Amino acid sequence: MNNKTKKRLIEDVVRFSEEELGLKFGKSFLSRQGLPFYFVYVSEKNNLQIPIKAFMVGKSKLRFRTYCSAFLFQKSLQIRNFDTMIYKCYAHSQELSKALFNFSAGAVTQVLFHEIFHNHILGRIEDRHSNYEESFADAIGYLGAIEFSKRTSLLNTDFLLESENAFEKVSLFIKKSIDNVREKKIGNNFYFDAQKNLEKITSGLDDYQIQRFNYKFNNSFLVRCEPYCYNYSSNKDVLLNQDNLFDWAKASVKYIRDDWAFGW
Ligand SMILES: [Zn+2]
Repeated sequence: MNNKTKKRLIEDVVRFSEEELGLKFGKSFLSRQGLPFYFVYVSEKNNLQIPIKAFMVGKSKLRFRTYCSAFLFQKSLQIRNFDTMIYKCYAHSQELSKALFNFSAGAVTQVLFHEIFHNHILGRIEDRHSNYEESFADAIGYLGAIEFSKRTSLLNTDFLLESENAFEKVSLFIKKSIDNVREKKIGNNFYFDAQKNLEKITSGLDDYQIQRFNYKFNNSFLVRCEPYCYNYSSNKDVLLNQDNLFDWAKASVKYIRDDWAFGW
């Protein structure tokens, strides 16, 4: 993607988010394009649980600017016999890395909608529950890209539809795996078999989404995936049940708020 196409895609997606999906962004990603960064995730080996003394209490991940610093921290957790993973991240709500733009225009578009949604949520909900925020961000990323693709020649709608379909299958597989680990319904080969099955399902995803799931299947990987995958399918339905695209933003904020009201 050359610089001109990149700039146009970002501007068009931001405009579509605000005018068609009811999302408020109100700024630009353009001035802050930097390097990828790295998250270290950790879990107990025998349960999906964040070891209390690994990070600050309640944190599931820590962010690092370089792979080297993430790697050293990961080593310190591995010698304490925890499951760990280093996740390479190409974007967050404030910043897009240059490397993101090596992926397809469809994938970049999904990421843009995802990050714009985080900006919309910022300041609207005080107790942000990431199990809903991330899965709504992914639903808006995928479905937003599909809707947007109908208006531009830059993206292929059929490919995005297939990719979304594969992503939903991945999310349901991850959800079932999480339930199995929590309910201790796992045999000796559980993680090995799950890795093989996941590789088969992810082959239908686009290039960006494949790399998101191309990690060793262990408990830290499931801790990483849970916020994005566990509620994806039901949150996608919330969006599809709206009469107008413009209600997507409002409906997802309401859903996250109501959920808190019921004491999640
Ligand atoms: Zn996110």
